[in-house]
Amino acid sequence: MKKVLAFDIGGTKIAYAIIDENGNFVNDVVKVTTPKTAEGIYDFFKTVVKGLEAEVDGVSIATAGAVNNENTKIISHVGNLPEGYNQLDFMALTDKPVLLENDANSAAWAEYKSGAAKGSKHAVVLTLGTGVGSGIIVDGKLLKGKSGAAGEMHVRFDDRHNRKCTCGLWDCLETYVSGTALTADAKLYMGQDMTSYDVIRGLKNGDEKAKEAFDHWQSHLENTLVLMGNIFDPEIIVLSGSMAQFVEYDKLNRQANDDILTQPFTLKQAKFENNAGMLGAALLLFDRLK
Ligand SMILES: [Zn+2]
Repeated sequence: MKKVLAFDIGGTKIAYAIIDENGNFVNDVVKVTTPKTAEGIYDFFKTVVKGLEAEVDGVSIATAGAVNNENTKIISHVGNLPEGYNQLDFMALTDKPVLLENDANSAAWAEYKSGAAKGSKHAVVLTLGTGVGSGIIVDGKLLKGKSGAAGEMHVRFDDRHNRKCTCGLWDCLETYVSGTALTADAKLYMGQDMTSYDVIRGLKNGDEKAKEAFDHWQSHLENTLVLMGNIFDPEIIVLSGSMAQFVEYDKLNRQANDDILTQPFTLKQAKFENNAGMLGAALLLFDRLK
């Protein structure tokens, strides 16, 4: 049975594991803190690949940033990773096939192939973490666009110049729908610095201000669902990432579908949590290896 060495690179952690053709993790996922320099990241990759490449048929890498249509390089700036990271030559790590894909696209592919969106042909997977990402499946294919960057969720959402996004825009969608957005809403409604988890704890304890902050955050998520529902007409929208666990699914499903122009979609929570990116990029590589 074929196997792939699968990585997921984020701004804070790099995770890796060996995954087989059936999507099973052959060993426990190893997690390390992301090195502070691009050279440090590359050296880390070289060491792991050298140690494990004899056991696998290829290497897959789910990464922050947009990836070209050939799945060979990063074509955007990646704000939360060190300078020079987006120039690294991942293809030179080994003579075996290497596949690079954006982490939100990879997570979407995992949910589509064997997770919450399995059985659909048209799906949107929104990843709600520190930032917001999306992967869009159209007629069974991952939507990549002309350059590979389709699905970037950056658009001006408001015009009050309140929140600056990592992409450079003021009042960008990400600054209203991400985990960072909920902490900004907490500051607005509760007047103090809190984590997302603090807000959710307050909500569960019946704190009115926490409820206002959460409702404000969730109303922007609802707008985002209506946007994606109207543009892509999906059968299903899946919410992934650390914020997905907090969402009121029944309520949001009902409200968003009341507002869309097209036929209703189903709203679901992702099946795969932190390992979705690793799994999805590995499954994309297995398709290439066939
Ligand atoms: Zn933005």
